[in-house]
Amino acid sequence: MNTAATAAMPGHDPHDDRALIACPECDLLQHEHPLPPGGALRCCRCRAVLYRRRAHGFDRALACALAACVLWVISNAFPIVGLSVNGDLVETTLIGAVRVLYRDGMWPLAGLIFVTTILMPAVHAFGTVWLLLPLRVHRRPYRADAVFRLLCIAREWGMTEVLMLGLLVAVVKLAHIASVVTGPALWSLAALMLLLVATASSFDERAMWSGIGDASLALPEGVPLKGRTASASGICVCHDCGLSTRGVLHHAHRCCPRCGARLHLRKPASLSRTWAYLIAAAVLYIPANMLPVMNTSSLFGAQKDTIMSGVVYLWTSGSWPLAIIVFIASIAVPMLKILAIGYLAASVNLRMTQYTAQRARIYRIVELVGRWSMLDIYVIAVLVALVQFSAMATIEAGPASIAFGAVVVLTMLAAMSFDPRLIWDTSDARREQDARHHEEHAT
Ligand SMILES: [Zn+2]
Ligand SMILES: [Zn+2]
Repeated sequence: MNTAATAAMPGHDPHDDRALIACPECDLLQHEHPLPPGGALRCCRCRAVLYRRRAHGFDRALACALAACVLWVISNAFPIVGLSVNGDLVETTLIGAVRVLYRDGMWPLAGLIFVTTILMPAVHAFGTVWLLLPLRVHRRPYRADAVFRLLCIAREWGMTEVLMLGLLVAVVKLAHIASVVTGPALWSLAALMLLLVATASSFDERAMWSGIGDASLALPEGVPLKGRTASASGICVCHDCGLSTRGVLHHAHRCCPRCGARLHLRKPASLSRTWAYLIAAAVLYIPANMLPVMNTSSLFGAQKDTIMSGVVYLWTSGSWPLAIIVFIASIAVPMLKILAIGYLAASVNLRMTQYTAQRARIYRIVELVGRWSMLDIYVIAVLVALVQFSAMATIEAGPASIAFGAVVVLTMLAAMSFDPRLIWDTSDARREQDARHHEEHAT
């Protein structure tokens, strides 16, 4: 069951004692709503989810996370796929693929794959257990603040689901060369992916913080509000845990009293950082598409593949659904993402007041789909790790793969540094100006 409710705008009634909550995406202050288990409260202006109430307390998230820990160990201990050529079986584990790339001098790529497919999923699974297991037996988890912030990073950068799709594409490509043997880790990775999704979607942050005994998300009641938005009322919302605090900005330590993250009304230097990442990504997008991502050398000569020629190869060999997926993930998504973030940042620079809801929606889509561009990086890693028959054929990662990995990371950083509340700030400021103008006219 998933019931959605919409929060209500605060009225002018000073005796209204319902708690207030600030929208993390548009900064509007709204009244909280009691929610049924499994329900979600949405912002009345931008439709962002303010919070969800999970149905099963900690039990479901903890069970999924525990199972994910076990599967993470299996996924990394056993080979994922193998290739058998003339009776020779070459197998690779995930860490084995990382090691081959590192050995070939592709350490930026090796590092990226290690972090996104091995380290971050581990932090996600073990971090959730770290937080929830003590709470289950009514104890305080040790350093909950730091572990929670790590968990926020791990959710963003763990990409098991993209890795699974990458493995699928790699298996289809390899099936043209030799017979593919699936390893036990392939199945456990698939299960790990599902469990991590289930862990994230059943984790109730509010219940966790109230279990730890920290202040609730609600603002202190009965405080007069100066404006419609949190920032206009001097309220600061934590980017990580969502806690709304008042007056913290006057202190020397601008840290969230609950999770310890840095506090600011808006992400610092949001626009200039977004532009910097975006320009770097746009520049690297050119070599990423022009230079070869893969060098294949075999008995029949050497071949250099760009991203586009890889798509063409998939298309002509009959796997057109995969060709479409790879085209969308590797060529269309990065370009559209650069254009979309550029449009959002430019619209804030130009103080645009129209299309606020549409721009908020574009921002949410960009956040959601950006990670899928990592697909080709994983395909390359698996092919490089497996096709190592020195006499017959070898595949090496080409220079474009590093440029392409950088494009994906830079566009993700650009989206993360962009503060969606800036979209609403111009129209909010104009509205407040108009209201003041009206008041002056009336008096
Ligand atoms: Zn909102
Ligand atoms: Zn916080």
